[in-house]
Amino acid sequence: MTDEAPGDAGRSRLVVLAGPTAVGKGTVAADVRRRHPEVWLSVSATTRAPRPGEQDGVHYWFVDDVRFDEMIERGELLEWAVVHKAARYGTPRQPVEEALAAGRPAMLEIDLQGARQVRETMPDALFVFLKPPSWEELVRRLVGRGTETEEERERRLETAREELAAEAEFDVSIVNHEVHAAAEELVALMTQSPTDL
Ligand code: 5GP
Repeated sequence: MTDEAPGDAGRSRLVVLAGPTAVGKGTVAADVRRRHPEVWLSVSATTRAPRPGEQDGVHYWFVDDVRFDEMIERGELLEWAVVHKAARYGTPRQPVEEALAAGRPAMLEIDLQGARQVRETMPDALFVFLKPPSWEELVRRLVGRGTETEEERERRLETAREELAAEAEFDVSIVNHEVHAAAEELVALMTQSPTDL
């Protein structure tokens, strides 16, 4: 006998990874994907254009505004948000449900606005905040990436300042000193039973 409801037997727990822009969420998520194929990672839909090397269906589903509107209207998104006042990003709902029902450890890598929405609809998820070793390091990483214009960078820094202040809303924080170590900490949390936390 377990204390789980019959319908929940074998259902896994969702982990939501958020944190300020350029903290390395994407890099940590990519490291988890590479070294832990047992972990299911959500592929978000976005209206932004692909960066060099990004593949449709792997890094994102690249969609236009018409399709994104349609996904919202049909209730296909678990959450969605306008990020950096630039483009819309959202989590397709059905694949998340399927991964959880199949008992796979599942993870969303999304922004703070999205994490807040998921907290409303799936309060049992584990909310993990990835933070930089310092503000200076965050700025260095943002500038170092070199993929944004000056204006975009300023916008992202402004967002990052607000996002850093949200740490207290999360269940756990991980400091991203080094990608592999942060990824391993994250995977350890995902495979831990909720009662261990
Ligand atoms: P980028 O354009 O650099 O790939 O991502 C920009 C931001 O969008 C990141 O902070 C990332 O976490 C966030 N993001 C990616 N996918 C989603 C999503 O499905 N929903 C939300 N709310 N944010 C997302």
